[in-house]
Amino acid sequence: MTGGRLLRGIGVSPGVAIGPARIVDWELPEVEARTVPAGEVQAEVSRLHGAISEVRALMESLRARTEVRAGPEEAKIFDAQIMMLEDQEFLGQVEKLIQENQLTAERAFEFKALEMRIRWGQSPNPQLRQRTADISGISISVLKILTGHPVDDVLHRPDGRPLVVFTRQLTPGLTVQFEREHVAGFASDEGTQVAHAAILARSMGIPCVMGLVGGVDRIQDMTEVLLDGTRGTVLLDPTPSEIDAALERERRRRVLDEELEASLYQPAVTLDGTAVTLRGNLDLPEDLESALHHGAEGIGLLRTEFLLLGRTELPSEDEQAQFFQRVAERFTGRTVIVRSYDLGGDKFPAAFRSDYEANPFLGWRAIRVCLDHPQIFRTQIRAILRARLHGDAQLLLPLVTQVEEVERTRELVVESADALRREGIPAAETLPLGVMIETPAAALLVDQIAERSDFLSVGTNDLTQYTLAVDRGNARLAGRFTPLHPAVVRMLRDVVEVANTSGCHLSVCGEMASEPISAFLLLGLGYRVLSVAPKVLPLVRWFVRQVDLRLAQDVASVVVRKATARDIIATLEEAVGKQIDPLLLDVGRLPGDRGEATLRAQI
Ligand code: PEP
Ligand code: MG
Repeated sequence: MTGGRLLRGIGVSPGVAIGPARIVDWELPEVEARTVPAGEVQAEVSRLHGAISEVRALMESLRARTEVRAGPEEAKIFDAQIMMLEDQEFLGQVEKLIQENQLTAERAFEFKALEMRIRWGQSPNPQLRQRTADISGISISVLKILTGHPVDDVLHRPDGRPLVVFTRQLTPGLTVQFEREHVAGFASDEGTQVAHAAILARSMGIPCVMGLVGGVDRIQDMTEVLLDGTRGTVLLDPTPSEIDAALERERRRRVLDEELEASLYQPAVTLDGTAVTLRGNLDLPEDLESALHHGAEGIGLLRTEFLLLGRTELPSEDEQAQFFQRVAERFTGRTVIVRSYDLGGDKFPAAFRSDYEANPFLGWRAIRVCLDHPQIFRTQIRAILRARLHGDAQLLLPLVTQVEEVERTRELVVESADALRREGIPAAETLPLGVMIETPAAALLVDQIAERSDFLSVGTNDLTQYTLAVDRGNARLAGRFTPLHPAVVRMLRDVVEVANTSGCHLSVCGEMASEPISAFLLLGLGYRVLSVAPKVLPLVRWFVRQVDLRLAQDVASVVVRKATARDIIATLEEAVGKQIDPLLLDVGRLPGDRGEATLRAQI
């Protein structure tokens, strides 16, 4: 029926989006290094002014439209861009550069825009600093006009309807640049459910399909599409009955969500009364309210990378301390685990990008970056020590592979606490220090790491990636990416055994804990603290309350002897199917099905 109209990918953020497709090409156009003869200089200046007026008119019309449709506050997002286009000092400098150096208009504009970006990035005014992304947006538009490319007016919505944005690769930076009311959905060729942009799309509540592999090339700009972020599909030119069916599915999913919300404040205990602690993962500041609303018992993972998004300058100690304090105060009596910057891999904001690396996920990442830049690390540690005066803030280290990394961090914590004391700044005297078990090295060394740390948190996303040598963001490999692979399952078993013997606190904060069959396995293996995206808390809470722990333990002991992911998944599904409404496994299932549907299709 759907013929060639159906594109299949991976559902990474649930919900249905219907609207015109917008193909987004965020590349800055190539600008040739060229000069012009003296006689053409004036023509270049005129070309510059022509392009500036064109982009200004575009921005002003977008601003006006946004004001009518979304309100004056929303319309303000265009102010910084219009301000830049009206900045006579800036335009005068571009003109001067053309006249004195006989540069082309695009070359001179590119040069000065870069300079301005750096200046804004270093400004003491935080609002100006945060707007450096706007300069990039404006530069792309002006340079596209000057180099004869069509302007990508991403926000242009011909009939005012939100767009379904298609791009080859959805980066975290690109994801947060969009305002929710302008975007109905996201789709990308690359990426999977554990890509960081996918995690962000879920936090923002925007339906998203990734891993369309070649799909973007098959879609014309402004084609009507129906994107289903729960199923992982994109349907081109949907018929009214197809739209009705999708909306009905979505309605059922929402009814289920409401039912789950109703059980929000019931305790997360298994049928025999064993308590499970459910914490929230916090990716963006707005997740804080969601975590509170969904009954999170603390924050199991506060990802701090958002502090750098769209900026060219590192956040100050004060800014970080205030944010961590705010979170800690909202979770009085609960633990708030702040992870040090996990930069690198797919999380390097443009302004901090390091040199080219052939394998960034195996490169200069996370704890390695922090230890190589102790001044950056100290600022963050000091901020957490200060926040700890107001609640139970703790520090978690990503991508640990050597015990020396833990030891060195402990020294930095002691040094930072001493320095704060000397400076008379109120702060805690020390800090519980935890380690993410997310590399095979850490999993194999867990006894040594447990001796040197106060708690452990298993990052199943990276643990799966590094154990299976499967890039977590590579859509082609999505079918091979599963934490239910026997090698990962055995590691999970060994880690919980060591933690229990050593008495080290243990939790799981990877996406795995979000899915019923995986959560069932984790409980059966002995994990009692799970941290998941706030929106998923109701489902996990509801599910925990259905679990017969004895059965989960029996099934786990069978599963760890299995040889294939297929057998493990089948065993878990059979056991869980007896305890849970199948509708929840299907309609209400979490975005990101570990690619197991693809896995099944392959075997
Ligand atoms: C993980 O790797 O499982 C994890 C929780 O960290 P992140 O997804 O931020 O890499
Ligand atoms: Mg990780």
